[in-house]
Amino acid sequence: MEIRRDPITQSWVVCGQRERLSETGEQCPLDPGVVESTKAILTWPAEGVWQGRVIPHPEALYRVENDPGRAAEGIYDKMGPLGAHEVVIETREHDKKLSELSDDEIERVLWVWGLRIADLKKDARFKYVSVFKNQGALAGEEWPHAHSEVTATIFVPRRIKYELESAHEWYKDRERCVFCDIVRQEEKQGKRIVDVQGDYYALCPYASRVPFEVWVMHRRHNHLFEQPRPGANRKQLAALLGRVLRRLEKVSPAFHLVVHTSPNTRNKKGELSGYWKTLAEDYHWHIEIMPIVEKRSKSYSIKEVYFNAFLPEQAAEELRASDPNP
Ligand SMILES: [Zn+2]
Ligand SMILES: [Zn+2]
Ligand SMILES: [Zn+2]
Repeated sequence: MEIRRDPITQSWVVCGQRERLSETGEQCPLDPGVVESTKAILTWPAEGVWQGRVIPHPEALYRVENDPGRAAEGIYDKMGPLGAHEVVIETREHDKKLSELSDDEIERVLWVWGLRIADLKKDARFKYVSVFKNQGALAGEEWPHAHSEVTATIFVPRRIKYELESAHEWYKDRERCVFCDIVRQEEKQGKRIVDVQGDYYALCPYASRVPFEVWVMHRRHNHLFEQPRPGANRKQLAALLGRVLRRLEKVSPAFHLVVHTSPNTRNKKGELSGYWKTLAEDYHWHIEIMPIVEKRSKSYSIKEVYFNAFLPEQAAEELRASDPNP
């Protein structure tokens, strides 16, 4: 396994066969009674019967013990898959989806995401920590048991780099955060807002890439998901996320969800070091959810230009009207 860089787009691609450690057969490897054979990185509650659990990914794309071994191959750049890859088991119950958990339980999952991001960022070699969730076969989920994944990489993923660069440019011109500006305008216009809980907003972005794309954001500025501002009420975020997912699942049970937060600034050197100065002011964490409404949108990430036949204003209206109750 190795990570190669496309010299044109500068995106890193993990190449190679994934290690298949064992065939798990019929038994779900995340179920109680099975998963305990893997040493947990974290369990909650800390004592007694676990309700949630973080384990190393059994077929990790990145591994902590790997040497980054950055090497050139002629004009190309490659490196070893140094990093971390973890699985967050969101509930011990095999048949429960994240959207079916209580607000408290969802809040706990958000808290664990934040804990793992903060912990992995202590390693200065890791430039970025991603938290994402693929739910449903169409989204390429690895197991049907509710789980999310955390990866730490020695590079910043391309989309985040784009976001950082744009946010930085916006800030340079206006001395304002582009995400804060988006929330203000959406608040005023209202037509793309799906739901609100306290200071948290769910909206269909103006240039939605797929039908029913939703972003969840805090209207108060903060560049770090893993470090809530004093007074930030994550219970409200959990309640809002639950309602948004239940609404989206009426349109499609499959989705990609990703948390976008600031990169690791422990290592002041490297390609993005110029941005660190205003990062705390110019970047703003958010959660992006891309439902998979039709088979065609499955390959959304490799399309050259997104074509979305469904207006975000229509999508927001439909989602607002649908019943978010469990
Ligand atoms: Zn299971
Ligand atoms: Zn902001
Ligand atoms: Zn983003």
